[in-house]
Amino acid sequence: MYYKESELAIDLVKEAYKIPEWFKEKGFKSFEKRDQSPVTLADLATQIYIIHNLKAKFPEDHILAEEEGSLINTKSEELIYECFDELKIKVEDIKITLNYRGSPSAREWTVDPIDGTQGYVKGLSYAIGIGFMEESDPKTSVISVPNYDDEGLAIFSAVKGIGANASYGGKKFKKLKVSNQDSLKDAVLCISLHYNKPWVLEFAKQVGINKLIRIDSMLKFCKIADASADLYIKPIDLEHSFSWDFLPGYLIVREAGGKVTDPSNRPIWFEGDALRWSEPAVIASNGIIHDKVVNHLKKLQS
Ligand SMILES: [Mg+2]
Repeated sequence: MYYKESELAIDLVKEAYKIPEWFKEKGFKSFEKRDQSPVTLADLATQIYIIHNLKAKFPEDHILAEEEGSLINTKSEELIYECFDELKIKVEDIKITLNYRGSPSAREWTVDPIDGTQGYVKGLSYAIGIGFMEESDPKTSVISVPNYDDEGLAIFSAVKGIGANASYGGKKFKKLKVSNQDSLKDAVLCISLHYNKPWVLEFAKQVGINKLIRIDSMLKFCKIADASADLYIKPIDLEHSFSWDFLPGYLIVREAGGKVTDPSNRPIWFEGDALRWSEPAVIASNGIIHDKVVNHLKKLQS
């Protein structure tokens, strides 16, 4: 039932968040990737830590991960080793580990070492996401949010067919259940802080939604799963739609009783590192208001 995979993913995020927090204290260095999104040494170091451990536990599995190693020079290499020394993390060859993906396999891990890097560099919320799928079917996932609403480290996890759980501030895991909100105008809507399209706010205005949560990262999926929000609308484009961005939240919302589709109520799915859709947006909700949302979006388009 994928408990071993789930346990490993939870253990990894419990340690991994210490890496970006370490870099935050030291003052971090931000590079720019080809698609102009920022990447920091903390992204690279966190990915190295996660890949090192996935490889050690499941050497036959394939890994899909966000960051590539061409950005590491001697200086940044030293800084990563300094971080690992202080946190007592042992990785022999960080460059090779960063780029390690294993052999092709039906068993695939997704790794987003820091989701919401733009938020991270500004001291706002960010998340670490790990997912696991077999034959492209999501089986387990975990999202950790190091500074969740003053509660400290929050960990959200899901196993397919079993349910979703969350632990806040080191407390015991408890079952997650989406909200009972059935009124669209009273719904709490999560939207991106840094990437949006005008039609999202137009939709909110038309249906009378005035409670908005603007935050970075896949934390928005967690807000739906733990009932602190009811709806999340995310326009996507080709350059920002990878399985590591969406698989963890997708499974957590569904296992908490919610729904995740494209704007026409059609499924989204995962193929290797790609997220697939029929229409370029992701709608995640408590399930109850989902049809109302889809119907209004249809009207908005016509
Ligand atoms: Mg990332």
